[in-house]
Amino acid sequence: MQESDNDITRTSSATTPLIVPRPEHGISRANISANALKVLYRLKQENYQAHLVGGGVRDLLLGHEPKDFDVATDATPEQVRQVFRNCRLIGRRFRLAHVHFGREIIEVATFRGNGAGTEDASERCVENGMIVRDNAYGTIAEDALRRDFTINALYYNIQDFSLIDYADGLADLRAGRLRLIGDPEQRYHEDPVRMLRAVRFACKLGFSIEEATERPLFELGHLLDGVPAARLFDELIKLFHAGYGLDVFEKLRHYGLFALLFPDTEAALASEEHDFPVTLVNRGLANTDTRIQAGKPVTPAFLFAILLWEPVRSRIERMVAEGMPINEAVLLASAEVCARQQSRVAIPKRFSLPMREIWALQPRFEQREGKRPFRLLTHPRFRAAYDFLLLRAEAGEVDRTLAEWWTRFQDASGQERAGMVEGGARRRRPRRRRRRKPGAAKGGTEPGAGSAKGAQ
Ligand code: ATP
Ligand code: MG
Repeated sequence: MQESDNDITRTSSATTPLIVPRPEHGISRANISANALKVLYRLKQENYQAHLVGGGVRDLLLGHEPKDFDVATDATPEQVRQVFRNCRLIGRRFRLAHVHFGREIIEVATFRGNGAGTEDASERCVENGMIVRDNAYGTIAEDALRRDFTINALYYNIQDFSLIDYADGLADLRAGRLRLIGDPEQRYHEDPVRMLRAVRFACKLGFSIEEATERPLFELGHLLDGVPAARLFDELIKLFHAGYGLDVFEKLRHYGLFALLFPDTEAALASEEHDFPVTLVNRGLANTDTRIQAGKPVTPAFLFAILLWEPVRSRIERMVAEGMPINEAVLLASAEVCARQQSRVAIPKRFSLPMREIWALQPRFEQREGKRPFRLLTHPRFRAAYDFLLLRAEAGEVDRTLAEWWTRFQDASGQERAGMVEGGARRRRPRRRRRRKPGAAKGGTEPGAGSAKGAQ
């Protein structure tokens, strides 16, 4: 924060916002994406109001690099589309214009109002306190108060490069405080995802959550039941794939929100089987954070494999104890946990299928005889499954020597590998001769080939 300290005494209100002129705040155009500036200037040229708003302004003031840039304007989405050729309108619940510049998208939102007394009223639809449609347009002052947190409601005006604060956001930003605008309970009822956003920003910025904003987090988690499962998936990726997932996990559990998103995982964690603390989730999330911080790629398939493993594992244990073969138990347990989870958080198939493969491959790491380890090595999901095995070993779930064997096996030369398999095959039972069924064709398939192929 670089504004002069005498601003602290000034406060803002909906009618008289605090306006910080250009020389008194630290936002420099040099730190704003060239494409966001293009959008702002172009709207201004067409005589529309244009402001940078939300995370971009907040993060610039804090000296962080913004993830993306959001623009607010009095132009309607259709008018925005007429200004930019590279523009697409998206969203039904909240209609927005996306202006595309290669891979960068600048999100342009029209000022929202409450729509009361205007013909726009039907554009704002509230059901049981929840906003299901929010497309009634309004003034910048109305728009500011409809945003979630005070620190997210700061506007950088391209007209004169001033900063506009309707909600005392600057004071909160300075104090490291996260505060909802308006009555917190009502704001969470309107959109329960704001509870998850509170946790996200508290972790991301290291801010404290102001008391009235925090209290309902312990009480209103059940409202998440009313949020579409697909939206929760998107929100969870933002929560867990930003480099502070372990902190998010702990905070979500603290508020009882994790139990509502992952009830089966919470139950498994709570029971901490055999008094043995369950640590795979923590370790997995910490590893994911380290990867993200190092700029390495991560996938939701692995993330959800971590988050849902505990209930899968406890089911497998039970099924195997009841006499079910391990491979069958893994498949059945995975199917059961996935089916129950999908009603809460919709994991798209392109992630849930590889997630299940990561689990399904786990028992195959135990099989180190003959051609099996070579086949496993060529499996497209080998690397992710191996990383998962390492996690299980770290958590004390499987023998460390097994994980080490696979680490060596991957790096070994062809000859060394052959030696390792012989070594690892000591426990191999002598292969029983298959009696050919009378009348069966000669040269049947080699044992195991079918299963390897089936798994790919
Ligand atoms: P980041 O992009 O760093 O995740 P952000 O604050 O920019 O954080 P976005 O989801 O990009 O978050 O939203 C942009 C802005 O839109 C927010 O800063 C906030 O002003 C407003 N906003 C987003 N979601 C909501 C919501 N559910 N309720 C009210 N306002 C919201
Ligand atoms: Mg943003």
